[in-house]
Amino acid sequence: MATKILFEKLDIPGIETYEVYRKNGGYTSVEKALKTMSPDEVTEQVKLSGIRGRGGAGFPMGMKWSFIDKASGKPRHLVVNADESEPGTYKDRFLMHHIPHLLIEGAIVASYALGANLSYIYIRGEYMWIYKILEKALAEAYDNGWLGKNILGSGFDLDLHVHCGAGAYVCGEETALLESLEGKRGNPRMKPPFPAVSGVWAEPTVVNNVESISSVSWIVNHGGEAYANVGIGKSTGTKLICASGHIKNPGVYEVEMGMPVEEFFYSDEYLGGMIDDRPLKAVIPGGASMQILPTQYIFKTANGDPRLMSYESWADGGKLTGSGLGSGGFMVFNDTVCIVRNTWNISRFFHHESCGQCTPCREGTGWMEKILYRIENGLGREEDINILYDIQSQIEGNTICPLGDAASWPVAAAIHHFREEFEYHVRFPEKVKNKDHFRNEPMDKVRHLINSMAVS
Ligand code: SF4
Repeated sequence: MATKILFEKLDIPGIETYEVYRKNGGYTSVEKALKTMSPDEVTEQVKLSGIRGRGGAGFPMGMKWSFIDKASGKPRHLVVNADESEPGTYKDRFLMHHIPHLLIEGAIVASYALGANLSYIYIRGEYMWIYKILEKALAEAYDNGWLGKNILGSGFDLDLHVHCGAGAYVCGEETALLESLEGKRGNPRMKPPFPAVSGVWAEPTVVNNVESISSVSWIVNHGGEAYANVGIGKSTGTKLICASGHIKNPGVYEVEMGMPVEEFFYSDEYLGGMIDDRPLKAVIPGGASMQILPTQYIFKTANGDPRLMSYESWADGGKLTGSGLGSGGFMVFNDTVCIVRNTWNISRFFHHESCGQCTPCREGTGWMEKILYRIENGLGREEDINILYDIQSQIEGNTICPLGDAASWPVAAAIHHFREEFEYHVRFPEKVKNKDHFRNEPMDKVRHLINSMAVS
């Protein structure tokens, strides 16, 4: 039986309500932490657990907490990042919708560990109904003495507010989020200083994802070591994966780190394989900013090792034959999917979401979108493919925030793995224009057509 940490109580009827949540052990980690542990002891347990941030970057959470500047004596803050905007990702929404008190409980314990008396949940503007769910749950937590002054007679005070953003992808980047929280345009900040030193209101701040904070109460209740015993290597615990696309069972799953991807993919308990049993063409494993992988690299790494659900295993192979666990947005494509159209759609998104501060991102994302649009519509030129490759390489690593990298990686991987499809679009414009598209032709025929043509 696979270990459940976040979904441990998911199947209990009424678990979204305060009464049922409390009756089933809810808020016991607050009691344990505030009555029997010092803030540093809580941080130690989180460090011991080895949990890594679940927002996408995978930075060790306990280490992030230990960076917070306590020496300055300034007020400190926890900000929960609920700005879940990565295309293909909807796990935080699921958690907040179905078990809102789990997040609030974790936020109270985390604030206690950080010495924060004023904390926030920053939620994306499109999640208005979740905002209302959280507002109600927060009111219940206040009414029952879990928030406010002198919680459980411990002397610890905490106010926790939920703040609604205006709906920009870039506000998922922690410094853009902090700008937005302060009421300004959500432009990412130059770092350093990092938020642990100068975050919201220029005060020490830790920004953590919803899934990360929701794991805190289990870690405190069971101990960091018990959490570290689940998973594999430096990928400890469990991960929420939200699966979409051409699979039989789309949805949000909690998997133990280290589970073979093949098992996750074909087991009836999880994805159940391809819908209509059509051939699998590609997977994006961690949200739209991660590299797309063709069939041969989904279940095995470039070395032939089984691909596992872990940070290390998905990254195996580096930038091109590997990808990333990212936010856990697992998107599956069958043989009818046009990779050029898919890449254009992703590029369109990142161009739209670029805040425009950095020239490579502001201009480069627009150029990529335009070139991909003309290739997809039968107006591409032979040199366009190399120009695209060149543009993406000049964006990567040359921007203030990771949105630039996020825009460049999908383009690089798509060209690397599916170059023949780009060439097909350029060399058979009439077929593309007439929608007599290769998606209706077997891939081996496409490859044969491409290979039979001389490269000019
Ligand atoms: Fe803005 Fe793009 Fe620069 Fe990020 S990389 S700061 S989104 S222009």
